Amino acid sequence: MRKYNSIITVILICFILPSIIHSQNFKFYPGVTYDAKIPTLKQVVGHDWGERITSYSEMERYIHTLAEATNRIRVVEYGETWEGRKLYYLIIASEENMNRLSEIKAGMQKLADPRKITPAEADNLINTLPAIVWLAYGVHGNEISSPDAGLLAAYHLVAAQNDSLADLARQNCVVIIDPLQNPDGRDRFVNYYRQTRGRWPDPDQQAAEHNEAWPGGRTNHYLFDMNRDWFVQTQRETRGRVKAFLKWYPQVFVDLHEMGSNSTYYFAPPADPKNPEINEAQVKWLRKFGRNNARWFDRLQFDYFTHEVFDSFYPGYGEEWPMLQGSIGMTYEQASTRGLVVKRNDETTLKYRDAVQHHFISSLSTIQMTAHHSKELLRYFYEYRKNAMEEGRRGKVKEYIIAPGSDPGRANKLVTILMNQGIEVKMAEASFSNPKVRDYYTGKIQAKRFPEGTFVVSTAQPTKHLINNLLARDLPMDKAFIKEQIRRYKKRLPDEIYDITGWSLPLLFDVECYMAETSSRGQFKVLTEPPVIQGKIHGDKARLAYLIPWGTQAAARALAQIFRQNIQVFCADKSFKLNSVNFPAGSLIIKVKNNPEDLHKRLEKIAQQTGVDIYTTNTGWVEEGIHLGSGEVKHLKKPRVAMA
Ligand SMILES: [Zn+2]
Repeated sequence: MRKYNSIITVILICFILPSIIHSQNFKFYPGVTYDAKIPTLKQVVGHDWGERITSYSEMERYIHTLAEATNRIRVVEYGETWEGRKLYYLIIASEENMNRLSEIKAGMQKLADPRKITPAEADNLINTLPAIVWLAYGVHGNEISSPDAGLLAAYHLVAAQNDSLADLARQNCVVIIDPLQNPDGRDRFVNYYRQTRGRWPDPDQQAAEHNEAWPGGRTNHYLFDMNRDWFVQTQRETRGRVKAFLKWYPQVFVDLHEMGSNSTYYFAPPADPKNPEINEAQVKWLRKFGRNNARWFDRLQFDYFTHEVFDSFYPGYGEEWPMLQGSIGMTYEQASTRGLVVKRNDETTLKYRDAVQHHFISSLSTIQMTAHHSKELLRYFYEYRKNAMEEGRRGKVKEYIIAPGSDPGRANKLVTILMNQGIEVKMAEASFSNPKVRDYYTGKIQAKRFPEGTFVVSTAQPTKHLINNLLARDLPMDKAFIKEQIRRYKKRLPDEIYDITGWSLPLLFDVECYMAETSSRGQFKVLTEPPVIQGKIHGDKARLAYLIPWGTQAAARALAQIFRQNIQVFCADKSFKLNSVNFPAGSLIIKVKNNPEDLHKRLEKIAQQTGVDIYTTNTGWVEEGIHLGSGEVKHLKKPRVAMA
């Protein structure tokens, strides 16, 4: 027995004790004590910081408990995912700032639109407002460490008792923490991970727990990469986020990610190519923030790199879109453990806890910089928005003119997207002429007359840089960068652009667009709500059929609804003319027979919702083209789409 005891003692000394001692010594932030009244993650969900990968529901429980324990933190719900999980951001501020949040938000709205305030009012706002720093975690659900770091940062900022950084941050800033931008993706990863790991985590990169099955947790429910979606706004999560962003106009915005396990840590300044709408002031700030991170990382012996791999050319990134609104937008990337521990190619072992700590430290470093330079950042932000207007006024392209064209629905949709990101759009209340517009497609300069309902986007507004990014036909890329890529191509080396290189919205939406080189004069109104086209049924209740001309976005949307309601629908493969209306090939025919009794009512609703025009007919005898009973009229089967 004694012999066994001594063996057990040896085992304890060799294996278990060192790990206990090590974990006792490990401090996320050495030298700080925490207020015992503020609950830790362990007290609420059962595991310590970095000990497990916190699931969405655990995170949700923790942030609500945290907010109940202190006045320094407030939880705001800003949206919902496709799978029904709520999206939250946390506001962290001193009690004094917490009591004047609406005043702070109103102040930021004014600072963001220098047209509405005098320079003296701007000075006053800059002197009295805290700076807004926004940290966004986990947009890619399988990049796991950042949401845990976000929770830890929130805890630290409200519970640290002897940390001047936390005190100053609450005083000089409003810190906004979006702890989990993609809850659906994260839970997909966490569930997969918990299913595939054994009793102990396996550091082997080949282990199942490190290799997710398709589709993985990166994307949201509909498999969209939400770090490409900021200006396209196809996903409800993005729409909620953009709306929340525009309420606060943060001066600093960081999107925290993970990259391959064998890498180290990346932060600003970004790699080339630079987006041409980024200005020199921003370049300087990016360097300052990067420099401060480097100081922290050097002190704690964390490896890092800057200005390689991650460029910010594309405006749909969570780094670049805020940048074009005037924030200092940054991406941070931590080498991923894709589990709790991973053995890397250089024989070192990376623990989840370390990854969490790195993101936690870079978060605090960013907050520290913002707190120390809050007034300068507010001044920079105001001037960025003011200079943008001036540049637009002086620049060659004064306006982008979008005519309703053959499918006003497409122009409307484009304008809605622009307005949803804080871009001002005017609509012509009467026809007008502009003596010098450049055709978007041919490049020809001409004088042109535009009809009532034409949209005009002036570049002389605070969002000029974003406008040019989204509406210019192409954005010039640095010539030296292109030359280097050609050299690499010839050597069969991969190119160095991180991702997308072209995205013109007028081309994507196929709208009639012009670039005006003189400002338009006429009768315009600034739109306060996105425009809506209401379709209708032309004619009384049909005895024979309802007809929808094909070729518009509204017609396609109507067809989707018709399918959804199991209404029987046919399609004419050749054109025809009936009751003096032209129906091009592809037009839809909905016969009264074999369809529900309340067909008229249903179609009326579909017309209102989709903006489609529907025509009734009591005869199949056409004036030109094929008759409604022709062999060229085909029954449309409701498609069932499978992805494999
Ligand atoms: Zn990522």
